Amino acid sequence: VATDLAPVTPTRKLFSDHPCFDEAARMRTSRVHLPVAPRCNVQCNYCNRKFDCFSESRPGVSSVVLTPEQAADYVDTVRADYPNLAVVGIAGPGDPFANADKTLRTFELVRQRHPDLLLCTSSNGLELAHHLDEVAQLDISHITVTMSTVDPDVAAKIYRWVRDGRQVYRGREAGELLLSRQIESIKGLKARGVTVKINTILVPGVTLDGIAEVAKLARELGVDIMNNLPLYPVDGTPFGELLAPSPEQIARARRDAEQYLPQMTHCQRCRADAVGLLDDENDQTAMDRLLAARK
Ligand code: SF4
Ligand code: SF4
Repeated sequence: VATDLAPVTPTRKLFSDHPCFDEAARMRTSRVHLPVAPRCNVQCNYCNRKFDCFSESRPGVSSVVLTPEQAADYVDTVRADYPNLAVVGIAGPGDPFANADKTLRTFELVRQRHPDLLLCTSSNGLELAHHLDEVAQLDISHITVTMSTVDPDVAAKIYRWVRDGRQVYRGREAGELLLSRQIESIKGLKARGVTVKINTILVPGVTLDGIAEVAKLARELGVDIMNNLPLYPVDGTPFGELLAPSPEQIARARRDAEQYLPQMTHCQRCRADAVGLLDDENDQTAMDRLLAARK
């Protein structure tokens, strides 16, 4: 009997196992979001800071914030309950790279314990440009950058402020800085072989007329797929009084963009602590598991 057989390494999940980037996997594979990133380095006019940054617009409060160690233990328990788990994502509740130490440490722990899982995260792009090599070292294969305009003056209407280190920028200057970092981040990710999605928020009267330009630039930068998300107006935010785009406006924006990039249309605007198939709501068992992870 052979006793010196090499340990079996689980088969690495494939690109096509990601339920968001490949719709065919939607009913087949699960994802878990780890809520480890509470801070943000910008203030979007549609966000009340209780939002999942990944989706930007769904009023989904993360029930808890976990430490990297708690999050890694939580993945172990999730994996036992969801044998079809394919993706571990970090999506807030703030910006994952405004909390880069926590985000990268979490991925490091998960990567050590679960080398076969896909790692996925999201960012407004401001701080991401400074962590490209770490992304590549950890083999984070899927990243979403939120880019809603290519015009710094329009960006000035979306972002109340942008904070880079100790410096706070507003107006066009803020828009120019953020846009330049988004471009640098996307170029750097593509140079490292990462699959990149952009999220674009459809805001009537603000971003809606510039969607094709965003798609065109993103294509030039090598972006793989685009997710046009309608504004979800929230009371108490500067965009709370705006109207959400109509189904016709959404369809037109996607049609305009489609000539440049494939469109994702099945985004569920998941919470920062979502778990399971994309269509699953977090049930009580999922919430109990999450709350237990905090102890
Ligand atoms: Fe909110 Fe995300 Fe915007 Fe930060 S980047 S303000 S978390 S929507
Ligand atoms: Fe996927 Fe959209 Fe949910 Fe993110 S928010 S996990 S892209 S379905």
